[in-house]
Amino acid sequence: MTRHEFTTPATHGDSTPAPDDRRVLISGAGIAGTVLAHLLARAGLRVTVVEYAPGVRTGGNAVDLRGAAVDVVAAMGVLDPVRAQQTGNGAMHRIDREGDTIAMLPAEAIAGDVELPRGDLNAILLGAAQDGVEYLFGDTVTALADTGDDVRVTFDSGARRTFDLVVGADGLHSRTRSLAFGPETDFVRHLGCYQGHFTMPNTLGLDRTGLLLNLPGRTLGCYTVHDNRDLVVGWFFRSESLTYDRRDIAAQQRLVAEAFTGLGWKVPELVDAMHRSTDFYFDPISQVVMDGMHRGRIVLAGDAAHAPSLLSGVGATLAIVGAAVLAEEIISSPDDAEAAFARYEKRINEMVTLGRELAVRSKDWFVFAEGAGDHRISQAEEDRVHALREDVVTAANRACPQV
Ligand SMILES: Cc1cc2nc3c(=O)[nH]c(=O)nc-3n(C[C@H](O)[C@H](O)[C@H](O)COP(=O)(O)OP(=O)(O)OC[C@H]3O[C@@H](n4cnc5c(N)ncnc54)[C@H](O)[C@@H]3O)c2cc1C
Repeated sequence: MTRHEFTTPATHGDSTPAPDDRRVLISGAGIAGTVLAHLLARAGLRVTVVEYAPGVRTGGNAVDLRGAAVDVVAAMGVLDPVRAQQTGNGAMHRIDREGDTIAMLPAEAIAGDVELPRGDLNAILLGAAQDGVEYLFGDTVTALADTGDDVRVTFDSGARRTFDLVVGADGLHSRTRSLAFGPETDFVRHLGCYQGHFTMPNTLGLDRTGLLLNLPGRTLGCYTVHDNRDLVVGWFFRSESLTYDRRDIAAQQRLVAEAFTGLGWKVPELVDAMHRSTDFYFDPISQVVMDGMHRGRIVLAGDAAHAPSLLSGVGATLAIVGAAVLAEEIISSPDDAEAAFARYEKRINEMVTLGRELAVRSKDWFVFAEGAGDHRISQAEEDRVHALREDVVTAANRACPQV
């Protein structure tokens, strides 16, 4: 794999790297935030992470790590625990309403080089980003004032602190982005689908595999995790923008239940399990599109900056590689944050653009159009999607530094 050549940090005359004790605040202890925290702290910067949840957030789908993202995880020293949580699933069965298999989807089309539950990955990365990192759990940023020399930050807890740089790695609904760049509606594009995920015991008795029920406008997927003990169930449905309270889980579960009513197979059993679940996650399937991901001393990373959406299957890979690129640029430019951020943005542009395109192309493949009937995507289109996914990984590999 061709890699970007690592840029060396500024040096004293005797070529010893100058100590870099800049204070960096990262908002969000998710995938991008923890990778960035690890890499910056390792280089000696003083890193604080603020996370509004009280601890690591579990739940969500399984995520795929591809190409250079696996190398970054390895460089953080956690490839073994990551591999230990792999789903290890084989081909997935596309089924009909009776549960009969009508097609097989090869594992390569579904999973990356490593596939594991998102919550497990987040917990492992958080564990690797402890040395030299201060965590403020259960808090969030409420105001950011960039003075040109530093950033004055006010927290919900009432605390006020000053940092040299602030990174928003706080996901699709980024607070940092709203505070420093403008309202979410300026940057988040809804792709016309919603997703809901939860984990349940493997009462279907699946053995290292998954099932996918595609009906017009509705897709139900489930697959085994945790050595076949559990199932992750994912609901996907086409819909224009819905209005609901993001804190009201029961209301979100009702939206899912209504969307899947009367669809047969095991749907009633899975809806019951969803109502009993403790890690339900629901969100629109959306992308983030920004002209500029940085402003002064504030920069965005991961989904906050460039979410490609679940339909791409490369969101975690882009978040990890993007964080590694940003870390390298910050470290190699101790005196000029804006120049570092501009280079970061330029370097990740190709993978981000291709990742967005991949998601849009994959939509009809994953959630069939309403009224499509017994709709199938042609082999030629499947091949095009597969080739585009390879292009995203190649672009990410090119951008990613050796860490
Ligand atoms: C619990 C959970 C479940 C998910 N499940 C799915 C899924 O099923 N399908 C899917 O497509 N994507 C899902 N995602 C998003 C997915 O993890 C990302 O698309 C991808 O991994 C990129 O990671 P990220 O670090 O940029 O964002 P995320 O992994 O979303 O991490 C963002 C972090 O920021 C924190 N945060 C958010 N707002 C604030 C705030 N105001 N202040 C401080 N911290 C804040 C969040 O709690 C989270 O820890 C999920 C995210 C979470 C947090």
